[in-house]
Amino acid sequence: MSALLVKPLLAVAAGAPLGAGAAPQGIPPWLWWGMIFMLGAIIGSFLNVCIARWPMELSVVAPRSRCPRCQRQIAWYENIPLGSWVALGGRCRGCKLPISIQYPAVELLIALGWLAAFATIASPLTALRVAVFGTILAGVAITDLQYYLIPDGFTVFGLVWVSITSVAGVLLRDGGGFANPYDAMIGACVGAGAISIIGWLGEVVLKKEAMGFGDVTLMAVVGAAVGPGRTLLTVFIGAALGAIVFLLFVMPFTWFRSRQKHVPFEPPLVPFGVFLAPAALVALLWGYRLIAWYLGRIGLL
Ligand SMILES: [Zn+2]
Repeated sequence: MSALLVKPLLAVAAGAPLGAGAAPQGIPPWLWWGMIFMLGAIIGSFLNVCIARWPMELSVVAPRSRCPRCQRQIAWYENIPLGSWVALGGRCRGCKLPISIQYPAVELLIALGWLAAFATIASPLTALRVAVFGTILAGVAITDLQYYLIPDGFTVFGLVWVSITSVAGVLLRDGGGFANPYDAMIGACVGAGAISIIGWLGEVVLKKEAMGFGDVTLMAVVGAAVGPGRTLLTVFIGAALGAIVFLLFVMPFTWFRSRQKHVPFEPPLVPFGVFLAPAALVALLWGYRLIAWYLGRIGLL
């Protein structure tokens, strides 16, 4: 793991070209990559606020951040992405109770994600689109995992962002693997439609609600980003991923827990967005190759 992380970071420090992306002319590579990393960490920090507040239907703009336990207002210098958590030793300065590791973990994840996007994608527009799309998907997955819901904040912003950048991609002749505006419209309808049909049939079979409306809005955004074909691939990968994790880990674990507590076994809820979100990123980055490989295997290509 450390070799995986340290090597590219050393390469960046030495000014070596990493992947396909490069620092713009006149900006020292270490400064450029440092800025991308910090930008990602700041956006990850804001993502933490969205994850904590949107499920409670609170504003992400005001009021200022407080410690959830002692209500102590957090000063700007205690709120620096990654740095403050380490400097404070992971504890609130007021009540000394631990601050969740989720905060620095999300900041680091998004910072590394932005660094990876800009380092491996030559077009800055495409790198930005992949980085923002990935950030939205990360927010969706974490919120769905923790609260079993997908806030409209993520999906409404996502749909607007994906639509506007789809038009920008056409105007700048830089599509970058995202759907063009026409495919985006069809894709949004296919995504929302496919997941609605699955949810409806699931409800008939399981005799209870199988899919939340958040999954429908999520798949509309994914469909607008990747177009109809890779949207269906996303649903397929997400369902396969969900089934594997659910049958191999979640079901046995909850069954075991119910036996221990001597309560009747009840199959747990499945936050489908947790699996759809990474599936969408896979479909965007490697979808066409996966579809071509599969069609080749069954002799259709
Ligand atoms: Zn506190």
